[in-house]
Amino acid sequence: MRRALTERVKRSLRTEEIFLILEKNKDLLSNVGWIVSDPSSPRWWDGLETIDDILVSSILVQLTRWETVREVLKKLKERGIRRIEDLASLEESEIEELIKKVNFRRAKAKRLKNLAMLVKEIGIHRLVVSPELLSNIEGIGDETKEAILLFAGNIPLFPRSEYSKRVLSRLAGIRLSKNDARLLGEYICGHDLYKIKLFHAGIVSVGKSFCSNQNPKCNSCIFKEICKYNSVKRLETV
Ligand code: SF4
Repeated sequence: MRRALTERVKRSLRTEEIFLILEKNKDLLSNVGWIVSDPSSPRWWDGLETIDDILVSSILVQLTRWETVREVLKKLKERGIRRIEDLASLEESEIEELIKKVNFRRAKAKRLKNLAMLVKEIGIHRLVVSPELLSNIEGIGDETKEAILLFAGNIPLFPRSEYSKRVLSRLAGIRLSKNDARLLGEYICGHDLYKIKLFHAGIVSVGKSFCSNQNPKCNSCIFKEICKYNSVKRLETV
């Protein structure tokens, strides 16, 4: 996205008001699983306590309910497995048994074992700041990788997502690609870690709670007063 266009979209977004609204609606974010916390805390990721939990959950959650992932994380802790490298000494079949409540447990057990071996070799702090190393992990796609870099590695980048593409496009009244939305998020938030995390968590929360593809619930949405899509919709019904 060209810089002039980015500036124009940013102006039409009323970003100051977006941040004020998000600050006032932290409860909505926490209902969706984002806990507004200190800028570098792992707790943003639904209150998880460690970056090990963030990584393990990002493997377990694919095609599995988040509540089930939380149960499995609890079980791992009860068995004394608090760090990813603790899984390196287990057989894949043992890991599979421990995570048996999640879908595709065999494939995920293999991924966790490989991940544990890698973490044991290079250290988790090196892994979560490296896009190249994360790209090589089976089961972690671009969107998850960028979320891990931000929330576990504290790298100030705005993760791409379908939600940010849809919600930012509607707020600004301009059709954005996923990459446009990512660049726009980075342009708005700069290198401010707290702002990036709040903006990402807020946009995803609005996408999940109100801004569905087919039937956005604009009347209930926290952004209804500042959203271009909604104001055009209102004009059409006058
Ligand atoms: S007001 Fe409607 S279109 Fe705008 S962000 Fe909210 S749900 Fe989406």
